[in-house]
Amino acid sequence: MSGIKKLENILKGDFSGVKSTGLKQILDEESIARVNDIPLSPNRLFAKKDFPVIWNFDDNSLEIFKNQHSEVIWCDNCGYYIIMDAIYMALSALGLEPDDVGFASGIGCSGRASGYPNSEGIHVAHGLANPVAQGWAMVSDKLIISIGGDGDKLSIGFQYETSSGLRNVKYVDLIFDNNEFALTGQQSSSTTEKLAKKGTLLMGGEISNNENYLNPIESALQGRAGFVARSVVQPKAVQELAYILSRAFLFNGYSMVHLLSPCVISPNIVKKHNWGNKKYIPPDHDVTSIEDAYSLAVDPETLYKGIFRLYPGRETYQQRHKRHAEELKPNRTENRLSLYE
Ligand code: SF4
Repeated sequence: MSGIKKLENILKGDFSGVKSTGLKQILDEESIARVNDIPLSPNRLFAKKDFPVIWNFDDNSLEIFKNQHSEVIWCDNCGYYIIMDAIYMALSALGLEPDDVGFASGIGCSGRASGYPNSEGIHVAHGLANPVAQGWAMVSDKLIISIGGDGDKLSIGFQYETSSGLRNVKYVDLIFDNNEFALTGQQSSSTTEKLAKKGTLLMGGEISNNENYLNPIESALQGRAGFVARSVVQPKAVQELAYILSRAFLFNGYSMVHLLSPCVISPNIVKKHNWGNKKYIPPDHDVTSIEDAYSLAVDPETLYKGIFRLYPGRETYQQRHKRHAEELKPNRTENRLSLYE
């Protein structure tokens, strides 16, 4: 059974393939609430003292997701290790296997991510992970995950962020935001804050950093993305991250997760985005309301983390394409000529 089919079965209420007991309980609870017409927010878990166990650390089966022939060369203590572990945890929790997934990544530190999993991967030109992922997702029954940094996806490849939501192609868009172009010398990116201390004098630094940095949550909402979330990457929050990622993978449509991960050799991010005032999205936030999601995204005082939007009510690009093909099937030429009658 393909990766997409496994996910479709879970969405239909068949949780037999879900490997994580914690995740199964969460989905069961929501399914019962749905039958009884009780709204149950996916953010309710963040308010609990003990976050449910999405991944049991005694289970060592994550190794099957790692490419044993590719040495990971990120700096020691880089948050990207945590993100990759959380990706494997989420995939495994949902009962997916390495062959069920494909990774596309761009250029930069995060660009290396498509070579590290034991799955098919494409390492593409700067800023092009999203369009390649979209094309791949159109013809594949794998879950396609696109990975890029803030320099890659929000500066060079920015045009593909909002358009992905507008088209609603089912694939997962992960933004590893370290707040700079780290690999090429710490130049400022679209998300570098004005007061960030590092950066080259040519493109960043205190002289020419951005007056207004870009907010990727706001951009995704402008594209009407159905799933929009943010996580602050920290070792202690790996279960939360695995949970958010599992919801993104499960979502039937375009999903974007903003992953704030300070670069350990140049921690620009420390001062940005209300870093000192981080809060979980409250459990009473209506995840189906785009207006409510906006007001949290642009709050001038608070850095919200959690799930801003989960709205599955739109046809995906894959479904639309299939429907059009079916409608035109009997005789494409005749159908076309009938337009002129
Ligand atoms: S330069 Fe920064 S973002 Fe890149 S691998 Fe090192 S710590 Fe991570």
